Parts: sequence; structure tokens; C-alpha cells
Amino acid sequence: MQILVTNDDGINHPGLLALAASMKAIGEITVLAPDHNWSASGHVKTLHRPLRVRPTKMPDGTPAFMSDGAPSDCVALALLGYVDKKFDLVVSGINPYANIGDDVTYSGTVTAAMEAAIGGLPGIAVSLDSRANVEGEKDFSAAAAIAARVAQQVVKEGLPRNTLLNVNVPYLPLEQIKGIRVTRLGLRVYRDELVRRDDPQGNPYYWIGGEAPTGVPEEGTDVGALNDGFVSVTPIQLDMTAYNMMAEISEWKWGNPGE
Ligand code: MN
Repeated sequence: MQILVTNDDGINHPGLLALAASMKAIGEITVLAPDHNWSASGHVKTLHRPLRVRPTKMPDGTPAFMSDGAPSDCVALALLGYVDKKFDLVVSGINPYANIGDDVTYSGTVTAAMEAAIGGLPGIAVSLDSRANVEGEKDFSAAAAIAARVAQQVVKEGLPRNTLLNVNVPYLPLEQIKGIRVTRLGLRVYRDELVRRDDPQGNPYYWIGGEAPTGVPEEGTDVGALNDGFVSVTPIQLDMTAYNMMAEISEWKWGNPGE
């Protein structure tokens, strides 16, 4: 069992270390992760500059590789031959904050798993629903144990082509987590605000600021599961076709483009 481990928070993030350690119980791991934080970078394919990869060591001494590419680039590098192994599984995380609802379109953690699906391998993205105001070091141990459990299931059962699992773990001790729910994507509520400031030359610049997003904790969704103290496991498919719109849009008067 060959497992590729990556993340979007960078090679030195403790969430990656916890995930790598938990995957060692399941198979042989290769860590190839970004050299800096790519959170909320979306699904990237770097085509207009070269990618660099360097060997490094994780804080516990585990050999690893770091790249100046995005999380999805790291997966592509490994699967396209930078690493001379035939991988069976790609896991990404552990992201310190939840990736639920529309977050999956922004998330580097999730898009790394999407790249695995594009490469024909099962991918798992793992995120921890900790809050920004957690004092001191975050505890990734429960999420790491859940990640191992999900990975074992995926190894046993397999995943259909072009699909991945998006796993979110409540920030609770393992024994207080109520269980695992299979969910759909819920509704994230973004509270983004455009912050305008002026640089020393008097030219305006902008930050996307505002409060952290909330969500609608509807039954059956990832938001609802976390809210109830459950792990959410959301199967994601890369086919984003809105099938239920096809019939209706087919009825529109499209005319003949040549007329
Ligand atoms: Mn991140």
C-alpha cells in the first residue's frame, strides 16, 4: 500500500505531521507538500513557470519532499513520475479549519484530493473544525485517528472513478465524537467584506476581510454533522454538471447560431 500525503498549509504544518504519522499504520507513505501555505488557493495547475522540488525532513525526522507548487501540483508531480512509486491512495490535510459547503471550491486541501481523482486514484481530504481562537497548539490526534479509519475503509472498498471523500472532524476529543455521518455539502454563509486602504503613495489596495464564515446546520449536511458533534464524510464528484437543469435549459429558444 503506497500512500501519498500532502496538504495545503505547507510542509511544516503540524496537521501534515499528524496525518503522515497516522498513515504509516496503513501503508508506506511519501510526503510531497508545498513549501508554504496555499490555503484557499483553489485547484491550481502551474503551467507558466517551472516547479521545483527539494528533499527535506519533517519535524519528527520523516523524509519528505517540498515543492514551490500548489497542493494539486504536488499531487500531479508525484503521480506523473517525480516519485518512482505506484500510489494506491492520496490523502490531504489535516487542514486546521473545516472545509464544508462551497469551501470545497476554494480549498487547497480538497483540490489536492481532486487532483488525485483526476489522476485516477482515490483521494481523501481531511479537515478539523477548530476555531481560530484555540489557544496554543491544536490537537490533531482525533482527526488523525479518523483519517486512518476512513483511509482503511477506502482501501478496502475503493472509490468510483472521479470521486473523492471530503472528511471534516469536529474539534473534540476522540471519545466525545459521536460518530461518522455520510453527508452532502451544506450551505456555507460567507461574511466577506472588502477592506479598502491606501498605500503610502495614496493608491488604494484591497483585502477580502470580514468575519469567519458560518453555515446553516441542516440535517444531512456536513455543516449539520459538525454542529451535532459528528464527523462528516461527503463524497464529492468531479462531474459538476447540473443534470436537473438540462431538460429545462434544453427548452430555451436557442435558435440556429448561423441565423
Ligand atoms: Mn489550509
